[in-house]
Amino acid sequence: SAKLSGGGTYSFFGNQMTEKENDRQILKQDLRKAIDQQQFELYYQPILDLITEKVVCLEALLRWHHPKRGLISPGDFISIAEESGIILIIGEWVLLAACLEAVKWNDTISLAVNLSPVQFRDSNLVQNVKETLIRTGLAPNRLEFEITESALLLDSDANLFVLHALKEIGVRISMDDFGTGYSSLTYLRSFPFDKIKVDRSFVSDLPDGNGADAIVHAVAVLGRSFNLTTTAEGVETREQLECLRSEGYDQVQGYLFSKPVQSNQLHTMDAVVRF
Ligand code: C2E
Ligand code: MG
Ligand code: MG
Ligand code: MG
Repeated sequence: SAKLSGGGTYSFFGNQMTEKENDRQILKQDLRKAIDQQQFELYYQPILDLITEKVVCLEALLRWHHPKRGLISPGDFISIAEESGIILIIGEWVLLAACLEAVKWNDTISLAVNLSPVQFRDSNLVQNVKETLIRTGLAPNRLEFEITESALLLDSDANLFVLHALKEIGVRISMDDFGTGYSSLTYLRSFPFDKIKVDRSFVSDLPDGNGADAIVHAVAVLGRSFNLTTTAEGVETREQLECLRSEGYDQVQGYLFSKPVQSNQLHTMDAVVRF
């Protein structure tokens, strides 16, 4: 209780909450300037075919070079950007910058872009995707969008409409962080996904931590049953890789192969860059 932990606890705690909220407000203001001031950068993390261990896809991951705070990860600003709607502008920048980058790669390699639930509910999304593909010349079948279950929680008819409109353009859809949200099974049955990525939290507990192996197995079976490409994110050890191999996963991603890297590092990656 407050009394036991010493005087001033209430106000200390209270100030902390305010400080945190202040901080979010400041970051929100800073976010508004970030695009114009070119403070965003995309890093790319490879996704490999598990059998050939060749790169088949690169996932674009956003970084913010804050003028005072240095490099900030998306976990620390995406929710602020979503709250204020700035994510729509950021998301358009991400898509354009990533497509402009991907047209330089070997055309056997696809581009994965994360979509925020807020973007997913934006009526301009489909038109923007079409225009960006035309403007950059990236073939639609080289683009895949990663969507988490939280994007789909409500309005399932509206969601179906958007997903089908995206599929009609010819892009692919992955369900990201699979197993961490709700109603996964309903979504698999209703929505036209091409791929599922089992969440890092399960992969990191392999080979046998707390039922992780059972979940990783179940996702592999589900993926096969629904004819989806199965991917595992967050692979850090050989042992985890061998578990995933024995479960028949199609693709793997994680620090074991590579951390996300800046675009100027991609040439060091086998077969990525078209010379
Ligand atoms: P995500 O899409 O599930 O991306 C995977 C995250 O796990 C990335 O964190 C990646 O750096 C990290 N990761 C990959 N392999 C390993 C590993 O072996 N070990 C560990 N410990 N971590 C690994 P990051 O880049 O900080 O991104 C976090 C989340 O932020 C992403 O999760 C995604 O949901 C979101 N995000 C990133 N970029 C964007 C973006 O451009 N737009 C939107 N809307 N969201 C984004
Ligand atoms: Mg992702
Ligand atoms: Mg993921
Ligand atoms: Mg994840």
